[in-house]
Amino acid sequence: MTKTAFLVVLAVAVLAVPLIAVEDPSYALSPWPYGAIAWVGGVPEDVQSLSQSLIDAVSYVFELWELPPPAPMDGWEDPASVEPAWKTGQSGPIPQVVKKDPASGVLWRLNPLQWDGIDAYSLLYIAFPNRVLMAQAFGTVSWGGVCIGGAAAARGTEVWFQALTGVPMSIAAPAVDGDLTAHHELAHWMTYLVCARDHVRMSGLPEFIIEGIARYTEASLAGVSGWRLYAADWAETHHLSVELDRYDTYTIGLSVVAYLVETYGPTDFLYTLSSWSRNPEFMISEIEPDWRAWLEEG
Ligand SMILES: [Zn+2]
Repeated sequence: MTKTAFLVVLAVAVLAVPLIAVEDPSYALSPWPYGAIAWVGGVPEDVQSLSQSLIDAVSYVFELWELPPPAPMDGWEDPASVEPAWKTGQSGPIPQVVKKDPASGVLWRLNPLQWDGIDAYSLLYIAFPNRVLMAQAFGTVSWGGVCIGGAAAARGTEVWFQALTGVPMSIAAPAVDGDLTAHHELAHWMTYLVCARDHVRMSGLPEFIIEGIARYTEASLAGVSGWRLYAADWAETHHLSVELDRYDTYTIGLSVVAYLVETYGPTDFLYTLSSWSRNPEFMISEIEPDWRAWLEEG
């Protein structure tokens, strides 16, 4: 498909869907430096402190990984309202994203972000006030999710929620982050940006590396440590492989990433993602003996 065709398809999808959402204003938009926050159930009274805690979470995640934070979008405090015909004459590899705020009826134009020398999609953060509304939106119990390329219109999710996740980059998580879900999902966003910067195929990464990075980010903030004993026990009767079961993807993944970051540092570990994507089996065989020894050291 040519780039032009892609842009047209994207624009039609993005513009057509908010019409559904207007009839069911289940959310309202507010700006943040990286795009917009969609507040499910409406903009909360303490919108400023909640927004700031999400901005702080972005800073925390990128600092932990010794990366610069994404630069704020131009004019993010006052998103430009645009006419639906905005897409004509659009050029460049990263299209702008348009979302309609159902509360005000205003169309917002969200500009691309700059990060470490690359252009990146703006981020739509879908903030839920509680897990009940989140479960209704997802159609199942869920902790949160990151949606890249608008691919997340999963079956079972509410129509208005599919509309929101139809943008190129979105995160769905609780607004109040007692469970560190925001940090977890923002770590996935960070991983995506590193892959985009380094031309790494993110879908080639073992899931335990992707989830391990996110869990390591959470664990570094929460200071939890039970995973290490679990991993040491697990390693006595199991071997690492590309496919681990659901629980081990997260917990064994955390132990592998913690070992790699402590041994090589965040920057050099992230540079190995291209090798992890191209040949995960080889990488497992390279690191497994030393990872086991590290676990035994306790
Ligand atoms: Zn995850």
